[in-house]
Amino acid sequence: MVKTLAESLADVRSRIEAAARKAGRASADVRLMAVTKGFPREVVQEALGAGLSLFGENRVQEAEAKFADLPVPCETHLIGHLQTNKARAAAALFACVQSIDSMHTAEALDARCAERGAPIDVLLELNTSGEDSKSGFRTCDELLAGLDAVRKLPLLRLKGLMTVGPLTDDPQKIRAAFAQLRSLFDEVRPGLSGFDTLSMGMSGDFELAIEEGSTLVRLGTALFGIRGTR
Ligand SMILES: *Cc1c(COP(=O)(O)O)cnc(C)c1O
Repeated sequence: MVKTLAESLADVRSRIEAAARKAGRASADVRLMAVTKGFPREVVQEALGAGLSLFGENRVQEAEAKFADLPVPCETHLIGHLQTNKARAAAALFACVQSIDSMHTAEALDARCAERGAPIDVLLELNTSGEDSKSGFRTCDELLAGLDAVRKLPLLRLKGLMTVGPLTDDPQKIRAAFAQLRSLFDEVRPGLSGFDTLSMGMSGDFELAIEEGSTLVRLGTALFGIRGTR
């Protein structure tokens, strides 16, 4: 039996609750993002109906088609690499770009936001796994340099950090990647106002991420099933 969204959502919420409790945290401090990439537009409608209001897509073009004319106010984030030629569309479409991975991308987005005269929230992404297929700043030092530079861009509001955990079955490796980003977050946070978002955890590893301090989990499969089956 395929689970309904309501069933999957109830399951996910209780798992978030349990992971938060295990870590001595409040589950209210963990935001749940529905990642709709690879799923049809109807899934967004269904998710809105189920009370979800935070959505993530990893491609600008796919998001444009899917998020156009949504009936209810909701918040959309870009979670995949931003090509500079898509910066204008991204500025128009998203409340937050979680995947700032270079100064080049940051500057392009800032320039497009200046054109439209409105700021945008951003997270800086760290590639904690070292996997070439993943985007993000390559090292903590590069990310720290990026952070100093992004702070000077007037239209980007720096809200936090993001990572995609390593592709492995070894929970210790996954935990270590999340712990690395968490300690960087704790290190830089005191000097930055409004810096409150630590985006980590996907369907396969969100409980570990919550135990390691995540404030925003990005879930697709756990909510909507396997991509390509609907
Ligand atoms: C696809 C994707 C997710 C969601 O992945 P699931 O395994 O389906 O939960 C989360 N974050 C990013 C950056 C993604 O690209």
